[in-house]
Amino acid sequence: MFDLTGKVAIVTGAGSGIGAAIAQRFRAAGADVLVADISPQAEVLALQWGCAFRRTDVGQPDEMAALCEDAAARFGKLDILVNNAGIAASAPIAEADEARSQRFWRVHILGVQMGIKEAAARMTAGGSIVNISSITAMRGFLQWGEYAATKAGIISLTQTAAVEYGPRGIRVNCIAPGIIDTPMAMDEAPDMVSRNANVFTLLGRIGRPEELAAAVHFMASDDASYITGQTLLVDGGWSTGTSIKGIELALSTTG
Ligand code: NAP
Repeated sequence: MFDLTGKVAIVTGAGSGIGAAIAQRFRAAGADVLVADISPQAEVLALQWGCAFRRTDVGQPDEMAALCEDAAARFGKLDILVNNAGIAASAPIAEADEARSQRFWRVHILGVQMGIKEAAARMTAGGSIVNISSITAMRGFLQWGEYAATKAGIISLTQTAAVEYGPRGIRVNCIAPGIIDTPMAMDEAPDMVSRNANVFTLLGRIGRPEELAAAVHFMASDDASYITGQTLLVDGGWSTGTSIKGIELALSTTG
């Protein structure tokens, strides 16, 4: 099941967190994997996992084109792209800043759009693109305006790309993670993040990168051959409803 033998995959932002778990899982399933990351240190990890590496800033269209060309030249084809690279920063809309907004647009919107364009140009029927959004795209999240808006844009790009590339047999889907235990989520306030996951998710815990990688693996594989244009939420049930712990907390603080 979910066999990737003979497939060639690119995973962006694979030097850390969710992308690292995806790259290792794809490799274990038999794919040739090209790890792309802005951080040159990711090369050491990629080689340890048996993957190739190319330093890439996904926000630079010429670098995305060179990345996809590299995969096709190195392995003779390209079957799978995971647009996973992302950045995070929070601020209230009252403190909106043009430079910060441009950074989010460049990495999350331009990067994903150019990734789809350049990968699809080198794919044949059966190609699969998986974009990584976020549950912040689904509802308002205090102080996450730019991040959430650009993550919502990724869902929209997924839908349009599915329409445009469906006739060529290329599928485009999206995974929207909840809170996942990675440096992005845990570097600044790990106790608060863990507590939020504990209280707000229906499963009462933070997600593991490997649990995200499993969902991406399915979407990328031929086992998902009739699924396109979809967004799968992998969030421990956070977006589904208020948890019992959340209700109890609300009742205890309101008396
Ligand atoms: P992470 O641990 O910070 O890993 C992200 C990787 O992407 C890092 O290696 C980072 O390099 C790299 N990167 C950043 N900007 C890049 C660029 N312009 N070009 C290429 N690589 C770049 O984050 P993560 O938690 O695994 O996040 C992976 C994806 O999941 C992101 O799209 C994120 O928005 C999404 N997501 C995460 C969570 C969560 O709770 N963790 C929740 C929802 C969605 P540097 O470290 O050098 O910047």
